[in-house]
Amino acid sequence: MCGIIGVVSKKKSENVMPIVYECLCNLEYRGYDSFGFATVNPHLHVLKNVGAVSKFINQDNFPLKGSLGFAHTRWATHGGVTKANAHPHTDCTNTIGVVHNGIISNHHELRKELIKKGHVFRSETDTEIVAHLIEEELKTTSDFELAAVSAVRKLVGSFALVIGSSNFPDVLLAFRKESPLIIGIGKDKFFAASDVISFLKYTKKMIPLDDYEYAILSRDGYMIKDWRTMNPVNKRPKTVNWDFEMAKKGDYDSFMEKEIFEQPLAFRESFYIDKPTLKKVVQTLLSAKRIYVTASGTSYHAGLVFQYLLKELANISVIPVISSEFQNLAIVDEETAVVFISQSGETADTLTALRYVKRKGGKTIGIVNVVGSSIARECEATLYINAGPEIAVCATKSYLNQLSVLYQISFELAKHRGILGINEIEALEDQLKQLPELIKLTLGSINRKVSEIAKDIQYLSKSFYIGRGIGVPTAKEGSLKLREITYDFSMSFDGAGELKHGSISLVDSDMFVVAIVQNDETYDDMIGNIQECKSRNGKVITITSNPTSELIEKSDYVIEVPEANPLLSPVLYILPLQLLAVYVTKLRGLNPDRPRALAKSVTVK
Ligand code: GLU
Repeated sequence: MCGIIGVVSKKKSENVMPIVYECLCNLEYRGYDSFGFATVNPHLHVLKNVGAVSKFINQDNFPLKGSLGFAHTRWATHGGVTKANAHPHTDCTNTIGVVHNGIISNHHELRKELIKKGHVFRSETDTEIVAHLIEEELKTTSDFELAAVSAVRKLVGSFALVIGSSNFPDVLLAFRKESPLIIGIGKDKFFAASDVISFLKYTKKMIPLDDYEYAILSRDGYMIKDWRTMNPVNKRPKTVNWDFEMAKKGDYDSFMEKEIFEQPLAFRESFYIDKPTLKKVVQTLLSAKRIYVTASGTSYHAGLVFQYLLKELANISVIPVISSEFQNLAIVDEETAVVFISQSGETADTLTALRYVKRKGGKTIGIVNVVGSSIARECEATLYINAGPEIAVCATKSYLNQLSVLYQISFELAKHRGILGINEIEALEDQLKQLPELIKLTLGSINRKVSEIAKDIQYLSKSFYIGRGIGVPTAKEGSLKLREITYDFSMSFDGAGELKHGSISLVDSDMFVVAIVQNDETYDDMIGNIQECKSRNGKVITITSNPTSELIEKSDYVIEVPEANPLLSPVLYILPLQLLAVYVTKLRGLNPDRPRALAKSVTVK
């Protein structure tokens, strides 16, 4: 995820670059590892660097001038964080400039073809191919729009693109597929940005582009078209009723809520993992005699899901170990493979475990969000989860994207191991692809109910979160969310069966119990555990896709989530628990984004 902005002034004499700068700074929350600007005056001028834009450039002395400009703040997905990889990217003739948000998944093939045709690449990004593709198309047409459309039609993956050229100095083109792009209609300027907050100070009139649409922004006006047909699309501008401050978090009160509701979009990005790296990861795991997964906090819970998945899908045993205990527990040799999961890629405990494994000659696999981070660099193979920047301290969307990548690895392993039929695996793959829609549906359907439950239980200061089978990691993650931001005492177990071995004595009327009841062979046993808690006056909140009358009768509240294969249930069942933690926190007057004593990336041991 990153931020892109393009601005065209109707007045050729106006210098828009200070405005482009300001609009870009408003998008910095979307990415901040490097930045870049371009303007046409009369040549294409590009300025870029690593770091956060607001720290490097003074708006008043902005070095570029022009009445049309575009810019980018990057959150790297392809290629490290370097000046060369920062956007805008240009073609061989330095006349075409491109900024991009998203992932072009067929970039390997396109790059190879373009190199064969003589194009010279200056970055490692997937984005640069777009500039060269348009350059190539312009060899057979003099129509900029047609050349750009033909190039875009060759792209597979997700993208929002803003494209300008010094040979066509009065127009910017903006294309969308799966990455957000909003057109702003000002009195004397047009905008194209990743988020309306970027240009909100200048106009409240906007048109969100839908997939397969593009906008032509020129001095004389704007037009929206469909890039599959090039036919115009008739769309009326909408007026947003946001004020600028509030819009920084969209219309959410906190980044945590914003990130929870962003999950359908973020999850989709996790599908664009690097296929050659996935193959390498699968080979490494298949040839290992012993496999560990190690992580801390939320990432550890994703690791626990991985353990259940590999047992079930591939008959492979994975040993999960908390990173800070790794050296005390793990036996590592050349035939050991270890999977390291970390959002930031800088988690000190996980990094220490990684270096230990390397000293012992074990194989190392990273599952990381931040490109170019220490864990990503030091592992032999790293798969990126592509969740985009996560600003709230509490991990939400990164957890879901970690799960997605772990599912994709598990499905590949399942194919090799032949435990399940190919049809069954393909059905699971299809369901995984449908999850963005189901996540959206779930968030929409449970939101009000969860906020009402939060009001009812806000005065109960103790909670247990219980689950069985693949519901165990969900219970642990839900309990952690609540502890992190409400500071309430909350506990979960290595299995709800453990309740009766001591902890059930704590259940009383001052406690609520969250029960994860997925529709599988653990269903009846979970009903038994719910009954035990009810008998001791605990208030039971059940999360299930199968609310039978028995379950409804035994629970105080039932939150229904859509039915999916139980192996995929962790993705949907965690959603009400993320929301419950946020809503209880807000009712207490606390800020979910600023939990006391916690930091986003734990870089100390
Ligand atoms: N894939 C592009 C890159 O790595 C764009 C990344 C983004 O959307 O943040 O440069």
